[in-house]
Amino acid sequence: MFSFSTITRYQQQLANNELTCEAVVNHYLAEIEKHKGLNAFVEVYADEALEKARALDESRSKGEEMKKLHGVVIAIKDVICYKGHSVTAASKILDGFSSLFTATALQYLLDEDAIIIGNCNCDEFAMGSTNENSVYGAVKNFANEERVPGGSSGGSAVAVQAGMCMLSLGSDTGGSVRQPADHCGIIGLKPGYGRISRYGLLAYASSFDQVGIFGTTVQDVKLLLQIMSRPDNMDSTMTQRALPPTEIEQNKKYKFCYFTQVMEHPSLDAEIRAGIENKIEALKIAGNEVEAVSFGLLDYIVPAYYVLTTAEASSNLSRYDGVRYGHRSNVPAADIDTFYKQNRSEGFGLEVKRRIMLGTFVLSTGYYDAYFAKAQQIRKLLVEKTNEIFSTYDGIIMPVAPTTAPLLGKKDDDPIAVYLADIFTVFANLTGLPAIALPLFSHSDNMPYGLQIMTKNENEVTLLQMAENLMELKTKD
Ligand code: GLN
Repeated sequence: MFSFSTITRYQQQLANNELTCEAVVNHYLAEIEKHKGLNAFVEVYADEALEKARALDESRSKGEEMKKLHGVVIAIKDVICYKGHSVTAASKILDGFSSLFTATALQYLLDEDAIIIGNCNCDEFAMGSTNENSVYGAVKNFANEERVPGGSSGGSAVAVQAGMCMLSLGSDTGGSVRQPADHCGIIGLKPGYGRISRYGLLAYASSFDQVGIFGTTVQDVKLLLQIMSRPDNMDSTMTQRALPPTEIEQNKKYKFCYFTQVMEHPSLDAEIRAGIENKIEALKIAGNEVEAVSFGLLDYIVPAYYVLTTAEASSNLSRYDGVRYGHRSNVPAADIDTFYKQNRSEGFGLEVKRRIMLGTFVLSTGYYDAYFAKAQQIRKLLVEKTNEIFSTYDGIIMPVAPTTAPLLGKKDDDPIAVYLADIFTVFANLTGLPAIALPLFSHSDNMPYGLQIMTKNENEVTLLQMAENLMELKTKD
């Protein structure tokens, strides 16, 4: 029986001829079959993955050097384009659509000989926090199948959580990598805005979206980040400064802060608060500084996030009209307006429609100043506050979510309650900061939960050093 620990260890086993990529891919295919009921995958690329595995085994047998991701088995979220493979954003509107090109981030993984095992279920167009808004049905949490995995990248999180692949890709617009990672007990990284090319990532809210990584060790997540953060001329919002190649330094000491209003927020579960407070103490004992900072803008961040992202979504999703691609209604339309209306009404799910309507409303002439312009001002204030914080501190500590994974179906009829659960994750997307969710705790309800850290933009290396230190502290618990 194969059991995965780290990419380095796995590649040593390959080099020592203790394993073959083919056997490992067969192992994962069997696990995917076994856990079919979790509904994590949309499509499994079994034949293709096996073919690639055999080719890699052959290249090794000829003594060829292994590339950085030689044989690493990775799953991708169903919003990432992969040439010749279907991509649907878990929406009926893209039923039957095949990608015409490969997303840059994915291409960089393929260039290093990763094996892509399949694409994963998610909330429709990455809109949601429970992975229940999907045309393929809800994904179940492997830790407790009555609970959601979190969203929107729930399938990608469960694929790693249940051992159906080594690592996976998601996308994070307001927490969709960190929050499911938290609910599933794995690591979820959202790089800073502009770190990874968005070319080939189906757009939800372009000034927020980032490709993110799910994994089980900081080391592996770092390797994927390094590979995917190579420059790309197809995304003009990418940073031009490369990720520094420094090694993770163990036991480096930092100055952290946390927000008083966050730790005192009424929505925060008392046990989660206590877990984080304990970790803050442990960080201090280990020689770090941790201080409380007042953050008066907390109540504005969820409204600002939903005004701005729905505005961007209403514009981004206007391309799905059934003219050149995507769902087209069978009902004959008398005029072009009816034609668009029918295609879009049949193709989009409830949550996506709600957001398109909301976004169109906040951008309309009569309400633009009252909503969109105000939300932009809040975003600016948040960036200013962040710059001020990072003139004193190296990192911010936050919970990831106010509660552990909710029960399936529980939040179906209350969109606002679902939106409010994003209170601790959307800050990083509004400000563009890199952020990581670390699986550090277990709740008395038997579900995992974690802690989030953020650093200033372009400082992912520091973020990963901090993450490594915290994971180390966990082993000492
Ligand atoms: N839950 C948030 C939303 O629904 C975040 C989604 C995401 O990061 N893609 O918008």
